[in-house]
Amino acid sequence: MPDIFTKQKRSEVMAKIRGRGNKETELALMAIFRRYKITGWRRHRLLKFGIRSAKRGIKKAGKGKVGGGLRRVGTVRPDFVFAAERVAVFVDGCFWHACKKHSNLPVGNRAFWRKKLAGNVARDRLVNRALRKLGWRVVRVWEHELREPGKVVRKIRSAEFLTTDSHRLTRIPEGNV
Ligand SMILES: [Zn+2]
Repeated sequence: MPDIFTKQKRSEVMAKIRGRGNKETELALMAIFRRYKITGWRRHRLLKFGIRSAKRGIKKAGKGKVGGGLRRVGTVRPDFVFAAERVAVFVDGCFWHACKKHSNLPVGNRAFWRKKLAGNVARDRLVNRALRKLGWRVVRVWEHELREPGKVVRKIRSAEFLTTDSHRLTRIPEGNV
């Protein structure tokens, strides 16, 4: 069955869906943070990182000298950042980030979507690598994992555990998970 929308219209429609979906998953994670009394996070903080060459999907923030060599600077705004612990948390929608369990290609424009979603996955990997190089722990929470808040909290807590002094752990009470 052909797509009922033109490519342009489809992009607009999906952009709206994306915006809404992102917001919902972020709000769901915020509710989990509140429930488990997890504090110390900020939303959408801009992080910059050096990359060797321009790659598709990376927003260019200009060129700069990073680490002695001329590189491009990539930017990312993780959904949540625990600055003190250097933990970046992303909530990845199952469709947009190609979760193996739930991501199905739309019926129309399959080639377009295959390329689009592969680009998202490639960017996720690049961002993970770049942030880890800078000493960040990167936690990716799948949309479908939000149904199991305890599991999500354990994931984030273990990232904090690996990066921080033990006193930080008091932020995420043990007994509640
Ligand atoms: Zn999923």
